Amino acid sequence: MSCKGLSLMSGGLDSQLAVRVLERAGAEVEGVCFETPFFSSANARKAAAALGVKLHVLDFTEDEVGLLENPPHGFGGAMNPCIDCHATMIRRAGELMASLGYDFVATGEVQGQRPMSQNKQSLCTVEKSSGLKGRLVRPMSAKLLEPTIPEIEGKLDREKLLDISGRSRDRQIALAKEFGITDYPSPAGGCKLTEEAYGRKLKDLMEHEGLRDKATGALNRTLLDLLVVGRRFRLPGGSSVILGRDANENARLEKGVFAAILKPTNGIPGPTAAIPVLVSESDIPLAQSLVNAYVRGTTPADRASFKPYQLI
Ligand code: SF4
Repeated sequence: MSCKGLSLMSGGLDSQLAVRVLERAGAEVEGVCFETPFFSSANARKAAAALGVKLHVLDFTEDEVGLLENPPHGFGGAMNPCIDCHATMIRRAGELMASLGYDFVATGEVQGQRPMSQNKQSLCTVEKSSGLKGRLVRPMSAKLLEPTIPEIEGKLDREKLLDISGRSRDRQIALAKEFGITDYPSPAGGCKLTEEAYGRKLKDLMEHEGLRDKATGALNRTLLDLLVVGRRFRLPGGSSVILGRDANENARLEKGVFAAILKPTNGIPGPTAAIPVLVSESDIPLAQSLVNAYVRGTTPADRASFKPYQLI
């Protein structure tokens, strides 16, 4: 008896091992990953290509913004609504599973690997809030968890699933060797929402321009994409100004459509500045002074003497 499943792929080692373990237990596996302005699908795409599995890439921006606006389980250390984000990804994968007529969704989670988010209770919470009870397989720790429907039906060989728990990576490293997996990114990183500095900029955007167009409710994609660009300041009139930090960022800002684009006066080399939404005309001369304060050759002391702005 065979079965088919979708395995969540981050591109990290555990998500790659999960695919191989599921295959060994008799499943045909495809990957599913998500992309937003907060994290990319690049690692997952690379891993899926190396494993030779089909990958479904789902845009997750609307889901993530909804969670940023209202995270039922709150945020982690920064602006990262991890518990709800993870459960929502599994729910979205479950919807895809149902539409394709597949048997299960899997993740590379290891019980006890992360004390807060991967203990037995949070694995159960995620399963419950994703609405996938009995169809969510964690092949790395399956033998420590209740059998899932494909295991009970004999479509997935429980004996070939694993019983890994805890923070040690020894068994994963040994398995990587066994499966010939050599290329994988470090376990942490990749999601901007976990970074404090990024979270501060995101919060500022939410409190001022907003993540959505006020009239239509559509996502402010441009403003979200720009969160990784430049130095950002909030001016006294309420506008934000973004200053390019190098030639690439200057070029990117010059290509955009903004309320105002400013360059250093007198042709001195320096940053391009963009004001995405102009709240007050009085901000324009202040933004221009700010640009001039960052021209080549100015020192931090020179810039410190320019006061009427706040670095975000
Ligand atoms: S780290 Fe980012 S992508 Fe991962 S669960 Fe948390 S919010 Fe979601």
